[in-house]
Amino acid sequence: MNTHLGRCGTCAWTMRPSRTTLAQHPNTRTYRRPGICTICHAHALSAPAATFDLDHAVLALNYWLQDRRRRGVPEHGVDIGV
Ligand SMILES: [Zn+2]
Repeated sequence: MNTHLGRCGTCAWTMRPSRTTLAQHPNTRTYRRPGICTICHAHALSAPAATFDLDHAVLALNYWLQDRRRRGVPEHGVDIGV
């Protein structure tokens, strides 16, 4: 019987079937899906897809405003005469 499910594509650990124990398959991690073990799968779920960095956003906005003021752009934009 083939219990070898390959390696995890993320951590490269050898994976074992989900209902077997570590004692039965030393140095393995539980299989979750093809190419990913349970641990990496959990990591992938818990990791935020994209973190919004408020500090960085404020900094970028301040630089943008400073640059506009330095170029003499009025606070509410340039009057284009419409
Ligand atoms: Zn893994």
